[in-house]
Amino acid sequence: MRGRAFAIPLRTRFRGVTVREGMLVRGAAGWGEFSPFAEYPPAECARWWAACHEAAEVGWPEPVRDRVPVNATVPAVGPEEAARLVAASGCATAKVKVAERGQTEADDLARVEAVRDAIGPSGKVRIDVNGAWDVDTAVRMIRALDRFGLEYVEQPCATVEELALVRRRVAVPVAADESIRRAEDPLRVRDAEAADVVVLKVQPLGGVRAALRLAEACGLPVVVSSAVETSVGLAAGVALAAALPELPYACGLATMRLLEADVSADPLLPLDGALPVRRVEVDEERLSAVEVDAAAWRDRMAAARAEWERPDRPPWP
Ligand SMILES: [Mg+2]
Repeated sequence: MRGRAFAIPLRTRFRGVTVREGMLVRGAAGWGEFSPFAEYPPAECARWWAACHEAAEVGWPEPVRDRVPVNATVPAVGPEEAARLVAASGCATAKVKVAERGQTEADDLARVEAVRDAIGPSGKVRIDVNGAWDVDTAVRMIRALDRFGLEYVEQPCATVEELALVRRRVAVPVAADESIRRAEDPLRVRDAEAADVVVLKVQPLGGVRAALRLAEACGLPVVVSSAVETSVGLAAGVALAAALPELPYACGLATMRLLEADVSADPLLPLDGALPVRRVEVDEERLSAVEVDAAAWRDRMAAARAEWERPDRPPWP
């Protein structure tokens, strides 16, 4: 696969990253994105390569729906800004970041209350803790925040064992996100009865088909989330969400706006709280505007592919 590399600034810092970088390749089936984070070694990038290869050369399974409901994401901002973001999103579900370093529990309560007011009684409000709480804090805060009605709490604590403990003590469903990074993780989460919902991302899990197999093996409801990709990468997440037999929750795929630019003239942006299920074409002018030298990315891709094709690589679902 001959690729073209891109570097697109993020509107706000994410995972300590300020510029999203990766490579786009065009194959027989369409465009694929390969955008593992900078620190990932080749063995981890192998699955990202497999996802890109599937998108570009194989294509995705048939969808069973033509639109995918998505959630608005509310970062750790003040209550007025939180309410404004929700109202502007048009989404019926909001995910609110809580437990931000340097903020207080009162900040979290005020933000979640403002989001509930903005989204109305029929809207869904979920919180994402990114593993920041210990078990007792999680139990106390989930109960306190549930006075505003929580759909679920995402990754309240860092470990699978802690998630299992929290889940036994609160009525709010628990979702595992950071606990799902490798193929065996969803099954470990299931076996420990640590979550009611799993968050799956296409690139880290090796493609749409691999993620579908994992979802089936795991047997828990899935929320598809992005790895903050261009519209090309987001389309793979949409394809997964569109192919799942059941999709009871809105997905975390409305992340296009986190990037300052896109490579498509028709970016995957939500309309009335949902994304359309479709492939994405790259626009030459837009790609050129964010294009960078591809030499280093070609090397990364070759190393990732070599890892994927190693005869002694452990089997993938
Ligand atoms: Mg999360």
